[in-house]
Amino acid sequence: MVKSGWGATDSTSLQSADVDVIVVGGGGVAGLYLLYRLKGLGLSATAFEAGQDVGGTWYWNRYPGCRCDVDSLEYSYSFASDLQQEWHWPERYGTQPEILRYLSHVANRFALRRYIRFNTRVTSAVFDSESNLWTVVTDQNDTVRAPFCIMATGNLSTPRKPDFPGIDMFQGASYHTGLWPHEGVDFTGLKVGIIGTGSSGVQSIPHIAAQAEHLHVFQRTANFSLPARNAPMDAEIEAMHKVEYPVRRQAAYDTPFGIAGYPPPEKSALEVSAGERERIYESKWRYGGSISFLYAFNDLLTNKAANDTASEFVRQKIRATVKNSKVADLLAPTTHPIGTKRLILDTNYYETYNRDNVTLVDVKGAPIEEITRTGLRTTKGSYDLDAIVFATGFDAMTGAMLDIDIRVSGGPALKDSWSAGPRTYLGLMIAGFPNLFTITGPGSPGVKSNMMLSIEQHTNWIVDCLQHLRSRRHRRIEVEPEAEENWVSHVREVADSTLYPLANSWYMGANIPGKPLIFMPYVGGVHMYKKKCDEVVANGYEGFAISG
Ligand code: FAD
Ligand code: NAP
Repeated sequence: MVKSGWGATDSTSLQSADVDVIVVGGGGVAGLYLLYRLKGLGLSATAFEAGQDVGGTWYWNRYPGCRCDVDSLEYSYSFASDLQQEWHWPERYGTQPEILRYLSHVANRFALRRYIRFNTRVTSAVFDSESNLWTVVTDQNDTVRAPFCIMATGNLSTPRKPDFPGIDMFQGASYHTGLWPHEGVDFTGLKVGIIGTGSSGVQSIPHIAAQAEHLHVFQRTANFSLPARNAPMDAEIEAMHKVEYPVRRQAAYDTPFGIAGYPPPEKSALEVSAGERERIYESKWRYGGSISFLYAFNDLLTNKAANDTASEFVRQKIRATVKNSKVADLLAPTTHPIGTKRLILDTNYYETYNRDNVTLVDVKGAPIEEITRTGLRTTKGSYDLDAIVFATGFDAMTGAMLDIDIRVSGGPALKDSWSAGPRTYLGLMIAGFPNLFTITGPGSPGVKSNMMLSIEQHTNWIVDCLQHLRSRRHRRIEVEPEAEENWVSHVREVADSTLYPLANSWYMGANIPGKPLIFMPYVGGVHMYKKKCDEVVANGYEGFAISG
């Protein structure tokens, strides 16, 4: 292992560091890019990855139908011009196997695997304030010390099954979409039940329905889904996009969602005639994708009356597609404004309910009471099943970090600091936890954006910060509590000026019983966030105390 070179000449304590940086979660989009950047700066790093190979999200979520909901020409790294010019995406939205192949290619091409210890889960990370070193321990009994520790653990990397009574009694096969078997699953001839109609459920339901003898969909909350309009990659579009890449990638940073090419809407949904509104929604519906639709008007996420027009448009589309009117009513979302939960993109989702072998079961009206040996039971009936698919989501944004015992020796544990909800400065660092960075953490716009771009932006900020510290021979950086307090308040104020808090979403922690109900992402937009991050640096790392 390469020893830490961090100020080694003037520090005895650092001579006991094994590397400069420990990366937790080395296999995802964030871990890989981080390793690439650290390597480029000549910093030594060890990364730990719970998975057996690279891919992160795209390694674990192998359920049928899993694919990107951002155009792949955008959902791809921008850091290497050759890579983005050479890589060919066969379809508008990459499938899980394609994205996994891409990330594996990146790991090979930039020789990143050598830094990653696979099949290794970090269990604790403890900072010693005297030596300014993090000590990280894993489930494989590794102990590694470094001045800096970076959490690239992902926001949607802790799959969660509800705590149904009897869940371990089921004698059939059960799966979670986020932990899908690598060899795939053949549902042919089986009676299958799927619980959950978020993005994972909506993407997988048409595929499972096409195989299974019968599919029962257990829906608690209806969600809005738009047609993806996936298609083979258009050669002309691809060529043009690649020519424009340098401009597009830069322009993406000036947009709220980190995706260029969509002119910002200027009008309110309420200032045009009903006919004009319908025409605009219809053209967005036909084009496919979520950004296009949410960009129909400038107030869809801030004005309930404006949002109602878009929500109703989609409800009408659902009613026009689903032949059984009772089923259509159940599928038409009424509990939240469109866009306040992650807007889903699908291929033939609503059409699937016209199949004879698909039954929608309302488990809001009649909740699931228990999983039985032979299926499941709701308050209204029992269902015999050969297989159950849990498309029940994740302990999002905080789950992976809180699964690790992160603490400062003699000081607080992260789970205590975050007991009332996560608090960060810029989603990059946490007051009271020196030299610990997070990539797209709570308080950043990460999950509300094209994650590839946000991950690159966060990583660049962190690595530039390390470079700044190293060039000045500093050994310690920490957040000033007041800066964190101000940022947390700002994140809350911005969220409160939108419709987002009206939805019981995982953004709010609402999907996990007992989790504090705090709106976690920053929804001021990638453009505003990046501006703030850049200003912080220009003002000499405003809000951070640098020492050592
Ligand atoms: P991850 O990919 O989650 O990687 C984190 C890694 O950390 C994992 O490999 C995990 O094993 C590892 N890890 C966690 N804890 C530990 C530990 N204690 N020790 C060791 N290793 C650990 N975003 C978009 O912008 N567009 C999309 O279309 C899109 N589609 C998605 C589809 C699905 C099914 C899901 C679940 C998410 C999707 N996302 C999408 C969000 C997606 O998570 C990000 O785009 C991106 O892949 C996140 O990369 P990451 O490296 O931050 O996290
Ligand atoms: P999710 O959006 O949290 O959906 C979980 C589903 O399970 C919801 O329908 C939820 O119902 C249901 N559920 C949970 N507990 C239940 C219970 N006790 N009884 C009945 N139903 C229950 O999770 P996800 O679908 O895995 O998606 C998570 C995120 O990952 C997405 O929002 C998106 O950001 C990302 N993702 C993206 C894509 C893509 O298109 N590229 C694909 C998959 C995932 P309630 O709504 O009532 O809680």
